[in-house]
Amino acid sequence: MSLLITNSTVVTVDSAHRVIENGAVYVEEDRIVAVGDTQVLCEQYPAADTVVDGNGKVVLPGFVSAHNHLGYAVFRGRAEDIGHAPTHRLYLPMSGIISVEERQVIGALAVTELLRGGVTTILEMEEDAEIFASFIETSGMRAQIGVMVNDVNLEALARGETVFDPAVRDQQLEQANGLAERWHGRAGGRIQAVMAATGLSTSSPELLQGLRQSADARGLRLSSHLGFGERELVQRIHGMAQFDFARTHGMLGSDVVAVHCYEVDEAEMDVLAESGTHLAHCPHMNQFRGEVAPIQAMRAKGMQVGLGIDNYFSDYFEVLRSCLASARIQAHDPEILSAHEALALGTIEAARVLGLDEEIGSIEPGKKADLQMVNMRRLGLTPVNDPVTTLVYHGHAKDVDMVLIDGKVVVAEGVVQSADEEDLVSRAGLAADAAWTRFAERYGGYSVRPPN
Ligand SMILES: [Zn+2]
Repeated sequence: MSLLITNSTVVTVDSAHRVIENGAVYVEEDRIVAVGDTQVLCEQYPAADTVVDGNGKVVLPGFVSAHNHLGYAVFRGRAEDIGHAPTHRLYLPMSGIISVEERQVIGALAVTELLRGGVTTILEMEEDAEIFASFIETSGMRAQIGVMVNDVNLEALARGETVFDPAVRDQQLEQANGLAERWHGRAGGRIQAVMAATGLSTSSPELLQGLRQSADARGLRLSSHLGFGERELVQRIHGMAQFDFARTHGMLGSDVVAVHCYEVDEAEMDVLAESGTHLAHCPHMNQFRGEVAPIQAMRAKGMQVGLGIDNYFSDYFEVLRSCLASARIQAHDPEILSAHEALALGTIEAARVLGLDEEIGSIEPGKKADLQMVNMRRLGLTPVNDPVTTLVYHGHAKDVDMVLIDGKVVVAEGVVQSADEEDLVSRAGLAADAAWTRFAERYGGYSVRPPN
């Protein structure tokens, strides 16, 4: 199978940040073979199986989201206004209520939305993440998937006590290893496993060590929420500073994707940077919690930073804008970062965070054909002037026309090929309604009241 995109503006996000007007991209099987001028490529590859006219369109790398929780789309419209409380008031109680089938269809909806908006790779970590793996496989999405583990006794936690439970730990590690055993390397390597923890205050030293051992034995990356409001709790529970605890038990390093890191001081940033830990920066989610990670300071210290979506949201263009806006508000400087830098953080830099930058994240010969094409002849995108600046500040998921992953067309003319959109929206809506009805019956409302 070969495919030639012609007459397009190609935003390569290569090391020279080349933007090619009247550009073309030639794809054979799962790889990009050539990138350049339309006339030249048409002469070189006259026998392409499919030719796509990219006139009026911009081709750019697929977005890479270094942090996602697919099934948390169920919390849309219930979690955004309750600050840091969702974990205890929504997530934990809902986990005992929602069925596997309900979570699966909501996860399928989330994957479909992401593909629709040009997201081609995610790091998905969640309780029971394996339930999403088969839909991810058939959808064509590229993913690193991990069971997000903890080993606290939930009944004790509800009383406000942290008690680590070896039985929970064994069960969770078995689940995480089972996913890795069954899914790592599947779909021609498009699906990989990761070892993931919820955070440090819900992990015993033995749990983190278990994750580290599995990751080392299997050659996997690790990921955990870090620096997200746990500083005092970690000190109290573990008797150590948060990143000292993480480092001691294997949750810092050049194969670790730290998520959030908005609660970090200068010394903590030094510990992170010296360890080579990467950051999944989720500015769109975190701004609604009143938090901003100091990414400019962390990047200045040499940390690798890439963007992630986190929960509820699926329009990655919003993440790019939030990245710019939150950094500028934090610095009181309207010249911090640029649209080009934000786009790089959402593509090649996020790919680097996941250890996939040799394969994806830019449009270059030899790389996997993971790319998206945006129709610039949509309301809100004229005049284009600078294509990158206009896309980053004014683009939306709904403007994406075509998406390729591994050279396969997964979105054509704005339609996700792996799903019947109307049917999926209906089924996901019904599943969420059913789960929330049971939630309200059990807890007397749509969130668990905080104890007085
Ligand atoms: Zn998260």
